Amino acid sequence: MTLKDGQDRKHDYLRISVTDRCNLRCIYCMGEDGIEQSSHETILSYEEIMKVVSAGAELGISKIRITGGEPLVRKNLVELVRMIAQVPGISDLAMTTNGTLLPRYAADLKKAGLDRVNISLDTLQADKYRKITRCGSLDEAMKGIEAALEHNLEPVKLNTVLIKGINDDEVLDFLHLALEKPLHIRFIEYMQIGDHDRAYSGHYLPLSFIEETAKKADLPLTPVPLPGGAGPAESYNIPGGRGTIGLIHPISKHFCESCNRLRLTAEGSLKACLYWQDEKPVRPVLHNKEALQNLIREVLAGKPVEHQMAANGKCGTVSPGTMRGMSKTGG
Ligand code: SAM
Ligand code: SF4
Repeated sequence: MTLKDGQDRKHDYLRISVTDRCNLRCIYCMGEDGIEQSSHETILSYEEIMKVVSAGAELGISKIRITGGEPLVRKNLVELVRMIAQVPGISDLAMTTNGTLLPRYAADLKKAGLDRVNISLDTLQADKYRKITRCGSLDEAMKGIEAALEHNLEPVKLNTVLIKGINDDEVLDFLHLALEKPLHIRFIEYMQIGDHDRAYSGHYLPLSFIEETAKKADLPLTPVPLPGGAGPAESYNIPGGRGTIGLIHPISKHFCESCNRLRLTAEGSLKACLYWQDEKPVRPVLHNKEALQNLIREVLAGKPVEHQMAANGKCGTVSPGTMRGMSKTGG
């Protein structure tokens, strides 16, 4: 079965936020004191999440990404992975994580059916990592990357938010990392979402900066298909490199026309677009599969043509839809 939105875009991808809690406090995602956390009762249980997954799979959802907050801080996450992996029709199960808890869980996650991970890493310098995450250890994140490679959670992609004045001096180091290791570095444009402590102001840099830096350093970026599907990323190889470089520009070259994503927030709302306020709670219809499937269709029928930052026509425009932090919605 094919699930389509009001613009005839095929939707086969559900991103599930399993928690809004996190063991880090990244400057672009949360305030220093974290966020106002949802209580355990308001967060969807695994049984409730499974109802949405099963109903969605019957309608044509085949890809699932588990995200958050930090998904690995939620108890028994391996069990959720095991349950999702067994749902007929789910052919790709991925997770976005900061990686710091992967040394503990990577082996069990793989056995439970997780296909691959994206690990967030914005710097290769220990002091800067602590500054960006406010409390994290680069050593732990790097061990998480090693654990992902060791347990074949591949392709292992690194999510790197380009932050002007903070990590734009490390672009070449990341390019060299993709030359030396089988890692797929995906640079992401900094989005004004949540905008805690006005961190965004002055720190946005379009990803053309990556292409210019590579060119100046004589590291030609050659377009390639990425194993495991590139999603909205434009993927490139550097000749002789073991990994690849991906560029995700939600702002300077938005990819709304090919968007195939639906989101389930930790508190149980379906959202068709990350940047719009509109969302519909699933709890009232969870007891009835048909009503739940109708709700999924209804949410997609109302999906905007393009996201609010694009619709406003300006980079980083402040609008109500962008003020809910990523950890709340699920990045
Ligand atoms: N805790 C996990 C992690 O950090 O990978 C998963 C959740 S996190 C919200 C998902 C992704 O959103 C991360 O790769 C993070 O870098 C990205 N993100 C958060 N806030 C962002 C922002 N303002 N602009 C661009 N990316 C952002
Ligand atoms: Fe936590 Fe991920 Fe947000 Fe960083 S980006 S604070 S690791 S949820």
